[in-house]
Amino acid sequence: MAGATGRCLCGAVRFTVESFEREHHICHCGMCRRWSGGPGFMTAASGVVFEGREHIGRYESSEWAERGFCKRCGSNLFYRLKPKDLYVISVGAFDDPAPFEAVTEIYVDHQPPGYAFAGNLERLTEAETIARFMGG
Ligand SMILES: [Zn+2]
Ligand SMILES: [Zn+2]
Repeated sequence: MAGATGRCLCGAVRFTVESFEREHHICHCGMCRRWSGGPGFMTAASGVVFEGREHIGRYESSEWAERGFCKRCGSNLFYRLKPKDLYVISVGAFDDPAPFEAVTEIYVDHQPPGYAFAGNLERLTEAETIARFMGG
């Protein structure tokens, strides 16, 4: 979808994107769980421009990715896949949450037993997730 805006909780970091994926994943991996306090709701975006960059903290969560957050309020803002320079933005940080639709759950073999999402979402294990999104 075309352009959107968003920000962290305190507003020190704001962003605009030229386009974003309306359909997004829910990630059950252990890193998202610790980082978010629950499953990760993230969506790929392009043409991402940040205001208040000096307030962005970056954590290298793996060799190939970093996670960005607001140093003032702690909001999770993005996951960046470094080899592709691809930003995957927290769905909850967008100003308008209405366009988004969760379509796929990933890393479902890491999902704790105490909750489940309603609806007919596609469910991919870690191996299926890696094959689908990291290949090629
Ligand atoms: Zn903030
Ligand atoms: Zn994850």
